[in-house]
Amino acid sequence: MRLAALGITPPALDAVFLTHLHSDHVSDFNDVVTTRWVMSVAEAPLRVVGPPGTAAFVDRTLEMLRDDIGYRIAHHDDLNWQPTCDVTEVDEGTAFEQNTVRVTAAPTDHRPVAPTVGYRFEHDGAAVVLAGDTVPCEGLDRLCAGADVYVQTVVRRSIVESVPMQRFRDILDYHSSTDDALRTASRAAVGTLVYTHCVPPIPAGGEQNLLDEARGQFAGELVIPRDLDVVTVAKRG
Ligand SMILES: [Zn+2]
Ligand SMILES: [Zn+2]
Repeated sequence: MRLAALGITPPALDAVFLTHLHSDHVSDFNDVVTTRWVMSVAEAPLRVVGPPGTAAFVDRTLEMLRDDIGYRIAHHDDLNWQPTCDVTEVDEGTAFEQNTVRVTAAPTDHRPVAPTVGYRFEHDGAAVVLAGDTVPCEGLDRLCAGADVYVQTVVRRSIVESVPMQRFRDILDYHSSTDDALRTASRAAVGTLVYTHCVPPIPAGGEQNLLDEARGQFAGELVIPRDLDVVTVAKRG
């Protein structure tokens, strides 16, 4: 839905990158597969890049879709192939190369969820890191070193700590807090840090509090975006 809002039609989607297989990160994957498949004019496998375990997850997803696939093939005369995926499992190193885009992966630390990876996307001298859920770790530092943009899923530690339910507080031990993300960003000297997947979510107008909290902790720019916001990479001298 977000890609469609950007004017990107599903068949134009070349590849999907998964950092890990937690449900909140993959529950919409089946919809991407289905929408791209029914909108394509010819069979074209969807490239899927993810940590070891991704191929089995994709197989199970396609199996889950079996009834739906049958309904659609029965309904559309010219749809006579099944959706397929071309899966690459990575834990370290080159994850994807196409034209001038290069993506590298490194292991992250979201245990007991394992294995997990983060990605560094490079194109035309710019580098953007999508970290996924992870605590600060060596692999993350390597991905982030000197990056222009570092996108980190974050939890808001002080609020989560105040919730009187241990099962909720458990999330603190395998996510980066906002302070963790600021420290990783500083260590790596990234240009722009972007918070995403904030837990709990930021109420409308609440961004300023987080910007205030970050003051003095990170020399670059901190961005707290809404869906579909665009982050522009400034050329750094
Ligand atoms: Zn997760
Ligand atoms: Zn998550």
